[in-house]
Amino acid sequence: MGNKKRLSIHFAEINLHDNIELLNFMERKERGKLVAFWVAEWISTQISESIDWNSEEEQTPYFEALRPFNDSLRGSQIYAPKFLDFLNTNIHYIEKIQQDIRRFIKEIFDGYKKTEQQKREFGANLVRIPMDTNSQGQLLEKINQIKFEFTYAIDKKNGFRIKPVIQQKIQNFEQLIYKDFMDHLNEQQEFIICKSCDEVIADPSKIQVSNYYQGKGALHEGCREDYKRKQARIRKQRSRGKI
Ligand SMILES: [Zn+2]
Repeated sequence: MGNKKRLSIHFAEINLHDNIELLNFMERKERGKLVAFWVAEWISTQISESIDWNSEEEQTPYFEALRPFNDSLRGSQIYAPKFLDFLNTNIHYIEKIQQDIRRFIKEIFDGYKKTEQQKREFGANLVRIPMDTNSQGQLLEKINQIKFEFTYAIDKKNGFRIKPVIQQKIQNFEQLIYKDFMDHLNEQQEFIICKSCDEVIADPSKIQVSNYYQGKGALHEGCREDYKRKQARIRKQRSRGKI
């Protein structure tokens, strides 16, 4: 289920303290590497900045914790418990990225809802982008970390022809998330609103989109049960009212 979602949206939605959700996310293949690789690399870079490399006492536990991960990458994709411990102890390095991306998603979609409203009230010509300028600056700063590179790429769809391209060069986990998020926003055609919680559905499926435009309304996967319960309660109240 989760793996069909966009990487950045999937990341924003998982519970990082649930090992099953975490492992499911880490087994995604993104740009030829497992996401686990990007995550492990990110955490180890963050930690290594604070390690005293002259001290064996500090170095050894760090390499010990990463070893089971390196071993499991060579073998199967079942991560050793020791690597999971390493992840769980250091999850705050990833959590920071998740909090930022969650905040950006929320503010972009709040802005979207306001813009929609303005368009209805004042017409398309008077619409301005209401995303808070502070957040906008922070988001663009994140995206500006991504460098470009010139390369000759093999076009697999087109008879394996070689063509020159300028593309983004992803160097770490944070950049991977923001590149995906930028692509997601630029490519997304449909923004639709959940009829239960009134928030935007960030990554709607085809069924959700078609239900929405047919007037049936759409629901977040997580809101479905809640909505059913609410409807059942209303029906009950109505039938009681008739008697
Ligand atoms: Zn919802």
